Amino acid sequence: MQKIKVLRNDVVDQIAAGEVVERPASVVKELVENAIDAGADNIEVEIEAAGSSLIRIADNGEGMTPDDAKLACQRHATSKISNIHDLERLNTLGFRGEALASISAVSQMDIITKTEEASSGLYMYLESGQVQKERPIGRSRGTTIEVRNLFYNVPARKKFLKKESTELAEIVNVVGRFILSYPGITIKLTQGSRCFLHATREMDLLERIRIVLGGEVHDGMVELSSRQDKFGLNGYVSKPSATRKTRRSQVFFVNGRFVKSRVLNDAVYESYRSMLERGRYPSAVLFFEVAPGEVDVNVHPTKLEVKFDDEKKVKSVLVNAIKNRIDSIKVEDKEKEAASRLAPEPSETPENTAIQGEDEIQDEFSYDFSGSPGALGRDSAHAGSLPVDNFLKSVSDEIYQIGGCYIVEPKNDHLVITDQHAAHERIMYEFFGKATEEKPLEKQKLLFPVTLELAAGQSVLMEKIVGKITALGFEVEPFGGTTYIIHAVPSAVKDSDVKSVVIDILEDLASVDLKRADLLDELIKITSCRAAIKAGDPLTRDEMISLLEQLSKCDLPFTCPHGRPVKLEITVDELEKRFRRK
Ligand code: ADP
Ligand code: MG
Repeated sequence: MQKIKVLRNDVVDQIAAGEVVERPASVVKELVENAIDAGADNIEVEIEAAGSSLIRIADNGEGMTPDDAKLACQRHATSKISNIHDLERLNTLGFRGEALASISAVSQMDIITKTEEASSGLYMYLESGQVQKERPIGRSRGTTIEVRNLFYNVPARKKFLKKESTELAEIVNVVGRFILSYPGITIKLTQGSRCFLHATREMDLLERIRIVLGGEVHDGMVELSSRQDKFGLNGYVSKPSATRKTRRSQVFFVNGRFVKSRVLNDAVYESYRSMLERGRYPSAVLFFEVAPGEVDVNVHPTKLEVKFDDEKKVKSVLVNAIKNRIDSIKVEDKEKEAASRLAPEPSETPENTAIQGEDEIQDEFSYDFSGSPGALGRDSAHAGSLPVDNFLKSVSDEIYQIGGCYIVEPKNDHLVITDQHAAHERIMYEFFGKATEEKPLEKQKLLFPVTLELAAGQSVLMEKIVGKITALGFEVEPFGGTTYIIHAVPSAVKDSDVKSVVIDILEDLASVDLKRADLLDELIKITSCRAAIKAGDPLTRDEMISLLEQLSKCDLPFTCPHGRPVKLEITVDELEKRFRRK
């Protein structure tokens, strides 16, 4: 008995397929790339069950002759290179000749394709990579590929697919990247009657940003274009005032290819650093052009990382360009403001600007903690049931906020320090924690409903939670496409924060493994955090008192929902030790 066997071809194909086809989104990526390589300017992607039962991609590209089509599904069959030197002049997305072979090895695949010249098209059906049926068929120029029941013959891989919403979001991301990087091509993504993305040929990059990253990101963007040495940089970056909770809206393309790159993320962050609140990130959609010798774009189909020859140089080129652009916004803004002044008195302008700016900030961050039904007042167990004055007696007269985050109360023999965000988060958590699907929390109707134009990926999540968040007091109505209208919010959320709270919730939720988590519980945690005052928010004396009062009524006032401490006490005894008296 020989131990070593040469593997059968179909087994080899299935194993190899694993490297190219990880999940439905990778099929979408490969097939859209093929359509782009074929010169299509109209690409329609239709999926069912987040791509696991069907992925159909139709293009109006050059099509294939019947002979080419049959060859195309064999491993290492490509029209894009014929020898190793061709790699250096490559201007197509594919060249390895693996995608069709790999995908057809792990699915049931229909291909319909026709070239301009051919009198009729070809229909083929493949199962596990083998052609089972073929016949002539009518079609206009182009190619339609249908991938059914992905991984039907590789159960082990099928098991590894994530929850449907996760796979769907990944497909939306992949198609979104093509929309951003290929203006001039009409690209559409639908599932059943739901259209997730639809960019038409005429739309420019900024309009495409609106579709892919949402109206909020779009509205905060400014254009950027610069050339330095061998580097070119084009695209959009956000104004420093328009930041996000995650880096998700930072998208980079190097020489036209989507890449993930720590260096580029860092460069963007660095450019804004002094202007950012902690935990906030700017948005950016940037196209970076470098001489081919300066970069090693790893062309492995599933790897998106990129390596630059001179990372320091790349970083400084980006930081320079972005910083310059941001500086110019500040100048533009000042000029606009000066121009809009009724009696322009140049010497007064800077002072006025400063004062006005301060007012705005103050307004945005004033919270209603008073006993009146504000923040949490509507719940009888919380504020409102006890007048602030009563509580005052237990609080020493002295109360301070330091570092924009810590409330300090000197007592007789100790010092109490409270982290305002952690404290409010705890209060909110216990408040929202009472929510159940049967017994929703009280909501507060908005005088002016707020329209949210979400990024496609966010709308996938919104669709999932729209029923659940009613329990917390939100009332959100789908308004077609990726647009939603917010009619009501929990009484604990301030009107002026509605948009950012909802978007932050969606962004937080995107990083939660929903397969494991209890959705309502996750929502409660996230909403508590998002609705809570933040470090850096200035508080008045009354607000501090009210916050401490509400904290004192919590069941677990000593830690925030993430387990971090809310309060610290420093005793005189400890002070004596620190001053080495003891
Ligand atoms: P690669 O793209 O690396 O060449 P693929 O397996 O993705 O390998 O495709 C193999 C070949 O099939 C391509 O080189 C191309 O000639 C042809 N092909 C695939 N998809 C299309 C399409 N949508 N339109 C026209 N030709 C296509
Ligand atoms: Mg290809």
